[in-house]
Formats: sequence, C-alpha cells, structure tokens
Amino acid sequence: MFLDRDGTLCVDVPYARRPEEIVLLPGSAEAVRCLRGSGFVAILVTNQSGIARGYFTEEDLHRMNAKLQNDLQAAGAFLDGIYWCPHHPDARCPCRKPRTLLVETAAHELCLDPARSYVIGDRLMDMQLARAVGGTGILVQSLLPEEERHAAEETASYVANGIMDAADWILAREAGREDSGPGEAAGVRNLVQSGESTWGEGGDRTPSGGGRPSSAEDPFDEL
Ligand SMILES: [Mg+2]
Ligand SMILES: [Zn+2]
Repeated sequence: MFLDRDGTLCVDVPYARRPEEIVLLPGSAEAVRCLRGSGFVAILVTNQSGIARGYFTEEDLHRMNAKLQNDLQAAGAFLDGIYWCPHHPDARCPCRKPRTLLVETAAHELCLDPARSYVIGDRLMDMQLARAVGGTGILVQSLLPEEERHAAEETASYVANGIMDAADWILAREAGREDSGPGEAAGVRNLVQSGESTWGEGGDRTPSGGGRPSSAEDPFDEL
C-alpha cells in the first residue's frame, strides 16, 4: 500500500523540517505492522515542496525519514520504501501527487501492481492518485476545507476513522476476496521478500519539470 505522510502517518506539521517535528499519529505503527504482517508492502509517497521552496534541504528530509523509520521500528513496523517529490507545484513535475511517477517508480522498483494497490491519505490529491493508478483510495479523516473534504470523500472507496480503521478495512476486504476464490485474492500481497530497504532513494532522480507557468492554480495544490 501507498501511504501519505502528513496527516495520515504523522501529525501534519506544515513544512516540517526537523526530525523532532515528525510525530506518528496514534495507530500508525500498529497499522503498518499489521498490514506488513499480512504481506503488504508499505511505501510512503509524499510531496515535499518545502525543498524547492528552500525551507529545508534534502539532507533535512533524510534526517526526518530516519526519525520516522526509527519510531516505526521501535513499534515493530517498517516502511519498505520512501518516495518524495521535492519540486515546487509550479514546476508541474510528473512526480508531485496526484501525478503518478512516485507510485510508478516504486511499483517498478518493488515489483508491485499499482492497480491492485491501496492508497491511504488525508487529502483529495491522495484519492486522485489512487484513481489515477487504478488502485483503491482510502481517506483518513482530517480537518479539510468543506469543498475538498466533499470531493475527497466522493473520490475515496472508503472513509476511515484513523489509519487503524483503514488497515482493518483493507484486511477485511482482502479476506473477503480470498474467501470468494483465487484470482483477485493476491491483491498487493508482498512480492518483495528480501526486506531490503530502499528508503531515502526516492525523488532525487526525478526531472525538475518543465517550469511551465501555471495559469489556473489548483486550489488543493498549495503544499
Ligand atoms: Mg497528507
Ligand atoms: Zn516532483
């Protein structure tokens, strides 16, 4: 499954730049542990335009990623990959969510089928990403503006009360598929057995985008 960071796995601190600002939300580690224990691959996909904006550096993000992994591992969980977009929204790069390059790159590197994946996030862009890759979007409820909340709920396959609820829904859904016979049942079951981490490798191989000026700003594109 593909996980959003801010507001989904972690407390949403806008443009967090220090490791101590990375704080797991209740249930995050347990949800990742349960899903990985059931054979899922856990991949973080996150927009980090604070890098392009000069608020923090790629090195800062590496330190935040390390803090996140350490906190997860302390609770028996782990992220199989961390992929980020460092670009400014105006760059119109192919990796900024809801665009799909981060998921496509992760899917290629970890031999996953995005169409069988789950995307768990707290924003409309996460649900749009799920749609764009043909996966299943799960919206974790957060404080969104009314307009975005409505659109996100419309786009999601399930609206979860926290990430643990999202995990329970996924596991129940996959169990139902297995009961109904082979075929779809495999879902995004783990095709990666080595456990080799690729975290920290995302993002920076991505082209910086064309810099095409944006006439119509996406109202949900501010981060
Ligand atoms: Mg978020
Ligand atoms: Zn990007």
